[in-house]
Amino acid sequence: MKVVFATNNPNKLKEIRAVLSNVEVLSLADINIDTDIPEDHETLQENAMQKAQFIFDLCKLPCFADDTGLEVDALNGRPGVFSARYAGPQCSSEDNMDLLLKEMDGCENRSAQFRTVIAFIDGKDSHYFEGHVKGGILHEKKGAQGFGYDPLFMPEGYDISFAEMSQEEKNRISHRGIAVKKFSDWLNSRTSE
Ligand code: IMP
Repeated sequence: MKVVFATNNPNKLKEIRAVLSNVEVLSLADINIDTDIPEDHETLQENAMQKAQFIFDLCKLPCFADDTGLEVDALNGRPGVFSARYAGPQCSSEDNMDLLLKEMDGCENRSAQFRTVIAFIDGKDSHYFEGHVKGGILHEKKGAQGFGYDPLFMPEGYDISFAEMSQEEKNRISHRGIAVKKFSDWLNSRTSE
């Protein structure tokens, strides 16, 4: 089975291909789509479906998209759905992490979670899959793997950041890894029916 992953993020594509080994995951480049994908809703679920639907309308192939937010308890769940553009419209991951450190300066409660929602659509069905991982925000960036907020996030039960883990280790416990595993199990049960 072929499914299109509606993302322009090469890191996510790499992570997801490693987990979804039972289906052929097509990138937007594989189907010659080169466009910005809108995501202007207020929830992860709505954004994920908006992205999947947008690409489905262009290619009419089964599509999925994910949306992820970093939810920090001391910031009442922010940056949440606005994690990508937390520090402004054209900001980098470094800008986002710097702002997070600044906003959490002096904060004792470092609890946070990453949450991912995957939306799948194939013209007949639409489905959602969710994963989350709890952890804490470090006082300084650590590690060079991964992407986004990885250098600042230490998952519960570990003493290293996501950016200090191998991709396999991160995939095994991460928000997206858990959501993708649910998605993968569902795809498997569907194809074996
Ligand atoms: P998106 O909307 O799913 O692309 O993600 C929103 C923001 O969260 C972006 O700034 C990403 O860099 C960040 N993000 C998403 N997934 C991860 C992750 O696994 N680790 C660290 N940051 C992430």
